[in-house]
Amino acid sequence: MSRLTDISYVRDVLSRHGFTFSKALGQNFLINPSVCPKMASMCGAGEKVGVIEIGPGAGVLTAELSAVSHKVVAIELDRRLLPVLDETLAGCDNVKIINGDAMKLDLAKLIEKEFGSGEVVICANLPYYITSPVIMRVLEQKLPVASLTVMVQKEAADRICAAPGTRESGAISAAVHYYSEPEMLFKVSRGSFMPAPKVDSAVIKLNILSKPSVETDDEKLFFKVVKASFAQRRKTLANSLSSGLSLNKADVNAILERAEIPPAARAEEMTMEDFARITTQLSSLG
Ligand code: SAM
Repeated sequence: MSRLTDISYVRDVLSRHGFTFSKALGQNFLINPSVCPKMASMCGAGEKVGVIEIGPGAGVLTAELSAVSHKVVAIELDRRLLPVLDETLAGCDNVKIINGDAMKLDLAKLIEKEFGSGEVVICANLPYYITSPVIMRVLEQKLPVASLTVMVQKEAADRICAAPGTRESGAISAAVHYYSEPEMLFKVSRGSFMPAPKVDSAVIKLNILSKPSVETDDEKLFFKVVKASFAQRRKTLANSLSSGLSLNKADVNAILERAEIPPAARAEEMTMEDFARITTQLSSLG
């Protein structure tokens, strides 16, 4: 068992380095010994598959990833954790820590520099305040990674993985299902963290598809349609599209009719194919 899930050891290391937890940076460190080995073994990292971790904290997941992968590159924003990681990861020679902001770094460049054309996955216990932005960044930039295994708040996990056409679906789940096949791996109770957050978490895995799940001639327009459709969830699709895309009602009704979608339908009832048909009809409007 890793010493990094031993509360007294972690407390001792952190206090020797004068570290105090920052709520703003989403610092809830894992102390449940079974979680990190499970994440490391399920994320696809291996002897030939490198890993990028976002937010190593005190290095508890990093150490497990180091044991299964040939190389781990971990991006940590909080520079106070650098001396901590030096100590806790001493002996993990295949780990490189980068001090930076995962939302600002050029991740495509970093992957190319650190891993060349080798296979790479992302595995992280994400700070809750950048859960969706990090996921969207990886998907929209079409980063060359095979999968994204992340721990997020349970509610966020449900929203992100929600199947299109179901009540919990939204703009993020549509994007996730466009670029990947999401899997709910396992739940993690709030007591597994120090300090304990107010809500439970879950680990999800987004398996990146080699090509998007639906065909569309105009990807940008497709996502404009998705965002406009979900922007006002209580409205009918016709009303949301009309206000979100600044189109008159008659045009929207004609588009929906040609796409074979009832105007009173709501965004949450739409499948990926429905959004793709709306996009096709909209682009033919000129
Ligand atoms: N991986 C550790 C664990 O499981 O115990 C820590 C996870 S903690 C939920 C999130 C970590 O992300 C913290 O170490 C925090 O400092 C770091 N972090 C927060 N914002 C970040 C950002 N924008 N870029 C990189 N790291 C960030």
